[in-house]
Amino acid sequence: MDIRVTGLTKSYGVSPALHGIDLEIKSGELLGLLGPSGSGKTTLLRIIAGLERPTTGTVFFGADDTAGLTVQERRVGFVFQHYALFRHMTVADNVAYGLRVRPRAKRPAEAEIVRRVAELLDLVQLGAFGQRYPSQLSGGQRQRVALARALAVEPKVLLLDEPFGALDAKVRKDLRSWLRTIHDKTGHTTIFVTHDQDEALELSDRIAVLEKGRIDQLGVPDEIYDHPATPFIFGFIGESSRVPVAISQGRILLDGTALPFNADGLPDGPASLFVRPHDVTPVEPGASSLNGLIVAQRRVGATRRLEVALGTQGTVVEVDTPSLRSSENNKPVGLKLLNAAVFAGNGEARYFRGAATEPVVVRPSAFQRA
Ligand code: ADP
Ligand code: MG
Repeated sequence: MDIRVTGLTKSYGVSPALHGIDLEIKSGELLGLLGPSGSGKTTLLRIIAGLERPTTGTVFFGADDTAGLTVQERRVGFVFQHYALFRHMTVADNVAYGLRVRPRAKRPAEAEIVRRVAELLDLVQLGAFGQRYPSQLSGGQRQRVALARALAVEPKVLLLDEPFGALDAKVRKDLRSWLRTIHDKTGHTTIFVTHDQDEALELSDRIAVLEKGRIDQLGVPDEIYDHPATPFIFGFIGESSRVPVAISQGRILLDGTALPFNADGLPDGPASLFVRPHDVTPVEPGASSLNGLIVAQRRVGATRRLEVALGTQGTVVEVDTPSLRSSENNKPVGLKLLNAAVFAGNGEARYFRGAATEPVVVRPSAFQRA
């Protein structure tokens, strides 16, 4: 089922939590709602669920305005970060709960309930755990039960609010690919809230990036990662360094030296250059490189991360090199930027690929703040 949100705002007292949200989620899509803490993710999810009323705006399920529908009538399935299971009930009874509390006329026969619960426990790979109690399960297993319970009522929409947020990193990663597999099997329209950009990038068909109650960008993971629409998103998604530069007549200047990128059409004035650590290569310092000093280094997984201070302001750029190559601190080094982006003072951006001088022109997106 398609979901369409139009002109949604929500104010608590004076401070608005959501400002004019417009969003369409396609039937069967897994949409990641990504944003820092306090950006309005939970508020948006609770309004879609019917747990909260919007101040203005409408939520459509298919062609239906949901304004008059209760939570039950909307048929949404929920999983929250701390969605406590009923502790005194077995796993199987927890999953069956939503069906057993239905009015008699809408309740499936008991044999049908038992069959459906077994099927769902198999789906979440807990087929042998039906008679256990929640306290006898790990955190990851409990969230899998919570998902089975949400699916039991055959929801039209699945809403997941940081469901893996309380689990440790390894379990979270396993559950990520597990959830994607389940989603592909069941095909529910799903909204997945997270503040973890890796989780959003790996799981989502599309990602909506929320900041301060607004959707700043909506796109497939590649678009969000390769062409972040705002400096905020560039900094929030993936790792990056920000270098203050100046634009003058289409040239990008760092301490008066022009970078090999063409910023034609961008207004003159102060601007920000963004670059990711794996998009920079250290080279012998020379006339064609950006030159700086290695000020620190550390091991990050399979690579070695150098901190290189550039220019008179000593702006630090992080650079990845192969882990085996240890470099001396305070040694001069040149940097070649493979990919980078520059944001002018008016928010317009240019994205540079493969050190080419021809920029990829991306129009300021409709989602970008005016
Ligand atoms: P997120 O889930 O992205 O962390 P929330 O939707 O929980 O963000 O909150 C968005 C903003 O709305 C925050 O500033 C928060 O303090 C505020 N807020 C959320 N719920 C309430 C409430 N019931 N009363 C007052 N303010 C609230
Ligand atoms: Mg939240």
